[in-house]
Amino acid sequence: LVVPGADDGPADGNGDYLDASLPIDERVEDLLGRMTIEEKVGQMTQVTVGAVEGSPSDVAEYGIGSLLNGGSEALFATAEEWAAMIDGYQAEAMETRLGIPLMYGIDAVHGNTAIPGAVVFPHNIGLGAAHDADLAGRAAEVTAAETRAAGIHWTFAPCVCVARDSRWGRTYESYGEDPGLAIEYAGPVVAGYQGEDLTANTSVLATAKHYVADGGTAYGTSTTEDYQLDQGVTTMSEEELRAIHLAPFQAAVDAGVGSVMASFSSTDLGEGPLKVHADEYLITDVLKGELGFDGIVVSDWQAVDQVSADYAEAVRASINAGIDMVMVPFEYQGFTSTLLSEVASGEVGEDRIDDAVSRILGQKFALGLFEQPYADTAGAAAIGSDEHRDVAREAAAASQTLLRNDGDLLPLTGTENLYVAGSGADSIGRQTGGWTASWQGSLNPPTQGTTILAGIQEAAPNAAVTFSEDASEPLAGADVGIVVVAEDPYAEGVGDAGAGEHDMAVSEDDAAAIHTVCAAVDCVVLVVSGRPIEIEAHLDGVDALVAAWLPGSEGAGVADPLFGATPYDGRLPVSWPRLIADEPLNVGDADYDPLFAYGFGLQAA
Ligand code: BGC
Repeated sequence: LVVPGADDGPADGNGDYLDASLPIDERVEDLLGRMTIEEKVGQMTQVTVGAVEGSPSDVAEYGIGSLLNGGSEALFATAEEWAAMIDGYQAEAMETRLGIPLMYGIDAVHGNTAIPGAVVFPHNIGLGAAHDADLAGRAAEVTAAETRAAGIHWTFAPCVCVARDSRWGRTYESYGEDPGLAIEYAGPVVAGYQGEDLTANTSVLATAKHYVADGGTAYGTSTTEDYQLDQGVTTMSEEELRAIHLAPFQAAVDAGVGSVMASFSSTDLGEGPLKVHADEYLITDVLKGELGFDGIVVSDWQAVDQVSADYAEAVRASINAGIDMVMVPFEYQGFTSTLLSEVASGEVGEDRIDDAVSRILGQKFALGLFEQPYADTAGAAAIGSDEHRDVAREAAAASQTLLRNDGDLLPLTGTENLYVAGSGADSIGRQTGGWTASWQGSLNPPTQGTTILAGIQEAAPNAAVTFSEDASEPLAGADVGIVVVAEDPYAEGVGDAGAGEHDMAVSEDDAAAIHTVCAAVDCVVLVVSGRPIEIEAHLDGVDALVAAWLPGSEGAGVADPLFGATPYDGRLPVSWPRLIADEPLNVGDADYDPLFAYGFGLQAA
């Protein structure tokens, strides 16, 4: 099905909707009144750029409302190359009958990592450890500038999830287990992304995700094992929903967030597990009604397809529940024709379609896209600038959480011979983690930055530094050993202990490095991870222990407190269990017995 009149060119060029002096509501109403049902359904369709690469004219033919760069398309390019690519699709959109611009979205969740030279911030768990919402807001501001400068309008961040079980593989995307953190951070971070004016070439539309209770999924409740390990069911009372999981969304809505992404997960609030995507109570009654959200509810990636094995039923249930834009319908041609026939048969009301499209158009007007559809790359020169890197370094330093400091070993001052080991010491891939350059992250991303080892060398220019990842080099003469243990990068689909390479354990090689180094000299262990790992059994002979989280591109920030340039003042945003089997473990639990309690963090002398 093709949008009729798609080739006719802009209607008359002087509709009220083109008048920037009119209020957005009036422009939306005017434009909506001119649109055919096919054009409306097109606006509700968000397609992965890879799918239209060979057929860019489909953007016009189907009147596609939005494109995104999902994690699976790893396009590494400069801001100018990104902008030219997006402008090419935008030109297609601008040729449609009504000239409705498209919005381009990306997961710039801790920096615009699709540009190798862009700054990468600590993942949210580290920002939570820093207990500094203003700093998180400044990080978002930098990310927004580095994203819009590449012609990208929309980021799928922040995750305002509250991680209640560290076996949840997306714990690193949360600010921690305490809803208070997500509530406190949501406002400043949304404001950081969206700025005071969304039309500015330094602002992007933000997305509060994943609505709702994604961080409350119970281990072992996924219906499909593998990749859905982190897409289970959240078992909770209405009271827990509101106090723990919903409150951060209210904060995001109050801050004017332009979009909310629905969660892959289900809840059992009703009669049985129901996918949030099909939950009219949660999306329409609570989010749009009670919370007063008037932006776009976007689905998660192919999540509508998961609602029912019967595709027509999946589309009908999701749209009727209140989903406004469908991210990556498995085949957009199939999605648009299915939704059109649901509308034709009256199963989906036209008023529901009008509500969805009004929300989408409202954000496009707010972004100023009708006036300025094409990229403004003036800010590209600032991408990866010293000023931006300084914010990322400050955030990395502030996130460092000191868990043990026997004999006041830290900060390391006056050390002459350092021995550095471990898989996280010299690895941009491990220190940046998932959603870096590609969906799952990688061991060798093109990301430019400073490794922790380089940061150490820079912080202690007069020390002799020996680096041996597996600690096989002799330790002769070392005063202090630094072992940087790490999780390998991952983004989604990581669920639990026993999930092979991502099982929250210290790897055998890193455990051997701790043993070798800490048996021989005074030693510090730095843990590069997105969540607590099972480390108690490896702490013999360890004098100092630091949770470094996933610090991002600036390894120098990890070295700052290590050598006393900044204080250690991070505090645990999650309870650190003795054994992974102790999860779920949250402060306030009846038999609470963590290795390190929520909020714990030492100050170095
Ligand atoms: C994730 C979202 C993400 C989307 C687009 C999904 O798999 O759950 O958080 O925004 O992909 O890449």
